[in-house]
Amino acid sequence: MMNECFNPNCRKPLHYLREGRVFVFGVKADSEGQDGEGSHLEHYWLCGACAQFYGLAQDGDGVRLVKRNRVQRSADLELPGPEALAS
Ligand SMILES: [Zn+2]
Repeated sequence: MMNECFNPNCRKPLHYLREGRVFVFGVKADSEGQDGEGSHLEHYWLCGACAQFYGLAQDGDGVRLVKRNRVQRSADLELPGPEALAS
């Protein structure tokens, strides 16, 4: 299921998990009792390039691509705030 980028316009093959971002969503199973539980976890992957501009959100019974509100030029380079440093 997770062997390529979730972006349908990209479809980059997944080779290294260190690249990009992995999203995990709880998905309801079609039929209960299949694996003893009513839901299971699904993993989705966005490659590094797509993860800079997109995220994933669970929407009803599916997962969809969403544009990130804030574009971060240099891959998630966020400095910790003063609160984090104080603790
Ligand atoms: Zn991609």
